Amino acid sequence: MAHVIDSKIESFLKVSQQSDFPIQNIPFGVVKWINGEESCATRIGDVVINLSILEENGIFSDCNLKKNTFDGDSLNKFLSQTKQVWRSVRSTLSNIYDKKNIDFQYKTNIRSQCESNFSDVKMILPVSIGDYTDFYSSKEHATNVGSMFRDPKNALLANWSHIPVGYHGRSSTIFVSGKQVNRPNGQKKSPNDELPNFGPSKKIDFELEMAFVTGNGPNNGDPISVENSEDFIFGLTLLNDWSARDIQQWEYVPLGPFLSKNFASCISPWIITLDALEPFRSNRPSQDKPKPLPYLQQSPLNANFNIKLEVGIKPQGSEETIVSKSNFKHMYWSINQQLAHHSINGCIIRAGDLMGSGTISGPNKGSYGSMLEITWNGTEPIKLSNGTTRSFIEDNDLVIMRGYSENKELRIGFGECESKLLPSKTWKKK
Ligand code: CA
Repeated sequence: MAHVIDSKIESFLKVSQQSDFPIQNIPFGVVKWINGEESCATRIGDVVINLSILEENGIFSDCNLKKNTFDGDSLNKFLSQTKQVWRSVRSTLSNIYDKKNIDFQYKTNIRSQCESNFSDVKMILPVSIGDYTDFYSSKEHATNVGSMFRDPKNALLANWSHIPVGYHGRSSTIFVSGKQVNRPNGQKKSPNDELPNFGPSKKIDFELEMAFVTGNGPNNGDPISVENSEDFIFGLTLLNDWSARDIQQWEYVPLGPFLSKNFASCISPWIITLDALEPFRSNRPSQDKPKPLPYLQQSPLNANFNIKLEVGIKPQGSEETIVSKSNFKHMYWSINQQLAHHSINGCIIRAGDLMGSGTISGPNKGSYGSMLEITWNGTEPIKLSNGTTRSFIEDNDLVIMRGYSENKELRIGFGECESKLLPSKTWKKK
């Protein structure tokens, strides 16, 4: 496949073996540079490359790129162009940074302007997110939650195996990695309380998710098919969908989560394209019982991606403890099925929409993607390496998510998605 960058090529930029960002990755993000300007960027090893400067210098002149695609503070203009353009830019970048390309290597004038060290720049939110949808597509997660809150014998609701269940979230409070989040105040009522009470949530949780970022779907609202869905999927990020379980439990009937979910979500700064992940395709669980309706049917062969995921908790002043190791390959509904379902009714998909997978839990306890499941709603606290225990996330804990794919020749990663929980703000009646 011409759009997959040869795993053998090497860049003249130094890339360590454990780096998430070899020349085969070519992720896309938005950077605030030392001079305060913001523009789109990619990264090879620890070198961040200013795409706006490359564009000004005519490097993408054969890519059919719209003028000034990369000089803004989001990737949306790039996302709104076609998959052919996305691919053409990636292949141009891998070509000029290939160590065989002596030509660009010695263009020191351009290189000195466009290259910076990663530690000297600040990553900002890569996409101006229009709409945020969150699915609920891990069978293990849905089963665990259903067992805890309803009935272990009927953990999955009747619709779950027929519909990629999802809800419309809120995009205004999605942040890039590095964001500090205040513990939300809200209304809670445990089953034993007679009346609800108000105050800081006592059950703050992470949700280990991935999310895909879209291009423009058909503007007349025609459905996107499973088969064509990847023409409209730009790439993936890590997503920590912060959740307040006590608020959630009281508010979610009958319309689903509301304030328990929209106080903060956090994504990793680099969007990793599906082409970069192509060598890591993986089979999806089979869907025979029941078989989905025709518009959702898809062969399980290579319908998922093998992306290793982990979550660490780092209390203030202490070392990090890994509390979960999961994998994106466990998803029951693929991203293709999610997008086909989302658009089957005429819903318009726009460049820069973000669609979360839902919490990604694996089959055993060490692979659960939330503290709700890891500690079974707080009944089985876990021990951290500093000797303290956790049922949920405590104030000043840093939650770190990582994801990467690897085989013998290649490692493609997402970097980190980290977010610290701060104490709640004081609320007073005015
Ligand atoms: Ca979620």
